[in-house]
Amino acid sequence: MQVPPAFDLSHAVRTIKDYPKPGILFRDITTLLGDARAFRRAIDELVQPWAGAKIDKVAGIEARGFIVGGAVAHQLSAGFVPIRKKGKLPHQTVRMAYALEYGEDEMEMHVDAVAPGERVVLVDDLIATGGTAEGAVKLLRNIGAKVEAACFIIDLPDLGGAEKLRAMDVPVRTLLSFPGH
Ligand code: AMP
Repeated sequence: MQVPPAFDLSHAVRTIKDYPKPGILFRDITTLLGDARAFRRAIDELVQPWAGAKIDKVAGIEARGFIVGGAVAHQLSAGFVPIRKKGKLPHQTVRMAYALEYGEDEMEMHVDAVAPGERVVLVDDLIATGGTAEGAVKLLRNIGAKVEAACFIIDLPDLGGAEKLRAMDVPVRTLLSFPGH
């Protein structure tokens, strides 16, 4: 009997050249999200290391991290915490500056979204330079969260973000790697 070829998630990601500006290869996960089999496979693979672990909360980074993180939280029977761009959350927030390619911005979460000592997994669709995820880890740690891991569907290893998080003692799980940026 022939063994079916391994399902390759990379085919479910669409690459858009020169978006949002020249020189960038934008890794578009809307095609993966729209493919039932690929979406399920991606979520199953992301949660696999924590199946049975007592994760209290999944924190997702706006906006694609909400979609992936919500599904991950459901699968882990954990709560979901949105990390948002500043000015969007209605209750009292904590805020953290983070590095962008040019300049910086600020992200926020509700001050009571995670209780001290709770075990949190951070989720986004993609890690590039790691500036966004680094800001999110600092924000979570500032309110006493225990950041157990960070997971992303896509890694751009040439930009060093995953290594940056590992250097902060955050285990990193990624499913696909693409060269360049
Ligand atoms: P960074 O802070 O450099 O790790 O950038 C990560 C954030 O920017 C994530 O929220 C990604 O969704 C987005 N991002 C950065 N580079 C790309 C890319 N080449 N394709 C798609 N999204 C990207």
